[in-house]
Amino acid sequence: MCSSVPGIYAAGDAACGLDFSTGDYSVQAVQPTAVDHGRIAAANMVRHGSVLHQGCINMNVLDTIGLISVSYGQWQGVEGGDHSSLLDRDRFRYINLQFEEDALIGANTLGITQHIGILRGLIQGQFKLGKWKQRLMDNPMLVMEAYLAATQGA
Ligand SMILES: Cc1cc2nc3c(=O)[nH]c(=O)nc-3n(C[C@H](O)[C@H](O)[C@H](O)COP(=O)(O)OP(=O)(O)OC[C@H]3O[C@@H](n4cnc5c(N)ncnc54)[C@H](O)[C@@H]3O)c2cc1C
Repeated sequence: MCSSVPGIYAAGDAACGLDFSTGDYSVQAVQPTAVDHGRIAAANMVRHGSVLHQGCINMNVLDTIGLISVSYGQWQGVEGGDHSSLLDRDRFRYINLQFEEDALIGANTLGITQHIGILRGLIQGQFKLGKWKQRLMDNPMLVMEAYLAATQGA
């Protein structure tokens, strides 16, 4: 969060921060990114720029008249990647998972709130999903099971 001017730092909406997913620098105008930036900028003020920023994950959660939509990371996918989606039109539920090789790199959902933080954990952890990738391709609702397998080696 150091600027090009020694001793001057930037954070939050005023900063082009490192994007965890792309490695590019951009404004992520959400509170979690502002909080992360602020913490890193403050640490660097006292530690003379020695704290590295690993990048913030781009995300948004929106409540539109009761319909919750969520997006994390590269929900639009990447070239050569795979994706899996499930739509329940009658119940206004949708999930879309994006993979690069066997890692989850992005997701978005509509009308699904259970285990939603797990999606962020799977993306941020950059876990190699192995056989769980195909399982998620077959049924993208198995994110909790995939997370437990990835984090506990099951
Ligand atoms: C309508 C709206 C809805 C949003 N909803 C969400 C949401 O649901 N979830 C989410 O994560 N993010 C949301 N955001 C974005 C989020 O509010 C910002 O990304 C976040 O507040 C940025 O934090 P910041 O500290 O960089 O800037 P700010 O929160 O804007 O803080 C900057 C502060 O600096 C002060 N200031 C400005 N100029 C000076 C000056 N010259 N001297 C002293 N003080 C000054 C301002 O008064 C302000 O208090 C929303 C934003 C808007 C506008």
